[in-house]
Amino acid sequence: MKNLGKHAIVIGAGMGGLLAARALADFYSTVTVLERDAFPAADTWRKGVPQGRHTHGLLARGSAVLEEFFPGYNDEVVAQSGGLLGDVANDVRWIGHNVTLANGKSDLIGLLASRPVLEGHLRRRLLALPNVHGIEHCAVRGLVSDAARERVTGVRIHAEGRPEETVDADLVVDATGRGSSSAMWLEELGYQPPVSEKVEVGIGYTTRTYRRRSTDLDGKLGIIVAGSAPTWRHGVILAQEGDSWIVSTGGVLGDEAPDNDEGFLAYLATLPTMEIHDIVAGAEPLSGYRRYRYVHSLRRRYETLARFPGNYLVFGDALCSFNPVYGQGMTVAAQEALALQRCLLCAGSNGLARRFFSEAAKIVDIAWDIAVGNDLRNPLVKGARPPMRRFINWYIGCLHVAATRDSTLATAFLKVVNLMVPPPSLLKPAIAWRVWRGNRRAAVPLSRLQSSEPPDNKRIELT
Ligand SMILES: Cc1cc2nc3c(=O)[nH]c(=O)nc-3n(C[C@H](O)[C@H](O)[C@H](O)COP(=O)(O)OP(=O)(O)OC[C@H]3O[C@@H](n4cnc5c(N)ncnc54)[C@H](O)[C@@H]3O)c2cc1C
Repeated sequence: MKNLGKHAIVIGAGMGGLLAARALADFYSTVTVLERDAFPAADTWRKGVPQGRHTHGLLARGSAVLEEFFPGYNDEVVAQSGGLLGDVANDVRWIGHNVTLANGKSDLIGLLASRPVLEGHLRRRLLALPNVHGIEHCAVRGLVSDAARERVTGVRIHAEGRPEETVDADLVVDATGRGSSSAMWLEELGYQPPVSEKVEVGIGYTTRTYRRRSTDLDGKLGIIVAGSAPTWRHGVILAQEGDSWIVSTGGVLGDEAPDNDEGFLAYLATLPTMEIHDIVAGAEPLSGYRRYRYVHSLRRRYETLARFPGNYLVFGDALCSFNPVYGQGMTVAAQEALALQRCLLCAGSNGLARRFFSEAAKIVDIAWDIAVGNDLRNPLVKGARPPMRRFINWYIGCLHVAATRDSTLATAFLKVVNLMVPPPSLLKPAIAWRVWRGNRRAAVPLSRLQSSEPPDNKRIELT
């Protein structure tokens, strides 16, 4: 690989920062990851990643990219920490539009483990690379530039027990998560802030872990319920390390599950399956209740800025943070790391920011369309619903009806959800024909299926 510079700095050692650093390690003599928190000795939750106490699963695409960067990563998480690899289409029950998709064998392999475990293994693998260093207890406070303010030349840091100092770098990557200060830091250097897009979803997560029995769910590894009318409540139960289940549930626009036993169970009983409720009712709790509020999906449009320092990147959640119920964030960060690698390989570091933001925008577009597009099925979520969006939501509703019996169709849909193939693949004639065939004898004709009022198992009788 080419050497493009002496030193690259990545700010933030979350999944995004660790993946960005891996991509850079092939091109810079030294890569330093600066993290405000301590690196936990055991794989436990930490303050800088509050979402780490809530359900995380790595989609098939994310798991494949991690394997590409760190061969053996997935097996290592399984062997050393008790994570679980599973066929996303066969080992997990997916409920969307109030119907359950048919299970069927596929090559979509996802990785189930808590977020601290996923991150801990990644961090150890990354920091084992000879040219990568991690500095904990080190908060970045701002950027340093050249006199003309054309290039970022380093960062201002505050490391524990030391006065503020400056660290020089040829390239700086902001991977500080959705609370990123890049817009402010760049404004201090005379740059315009990016336009932000927000879609308010008001997601509430209430989460608890439980002992998992081998007989639970007939050995399946989880259930994922995507919110649908009339309650729009979501719920997830996923197997994790330590023979445990992690259960999260909640609603939108301020609807949250209570954090007490009676209320939590009653809330789970409102989901379109009783299976999560029934497991929770009989299982031994392993933690207390935890809550998380996620107000809006947030996309920062750095790719549209006319003037930007060529050697400064914004990455992962700092670039775009998605409604978490779709489980996309870590996989999108992994895809961005691949895009960064491609950008560096193809044309080095010249004009890197412009090229990277343009590639990252293509990745984000897909995940954003899936997440926001589905959120907009709820009539109370504010946002534009052009005719194509309404058609796609109607079509996906029809696909769900057909996929209750057609595992090929279910897998085609899950390939999109797992970011393996782009959404237009679902409009191919062979898929559209299966959708039509699966709906043609449905009790409710296609014309009556409203995108905001999807069918449920009771109303649709497929013969
Ligand atoms: C409730 C919830 C559930 C989710 N579930 C899933 C899921 O199932 N699957 C999935 O793929 N994604 C999921 N996500 C998204 C996922 O957590 C993120 O997309 C992913 O972790 C990428 O984040 P990141 O590394 O960009 O940012 P973060 O994980 O937020 O990491 C940012 C890091 O930067 C550090 N930092 C911040 N400021 C500074 C500073 N000034 N100086 C130094 N360090 C700093 C922080 O301490 C932190 O370590 C979920 C998110 C939420 C909120």
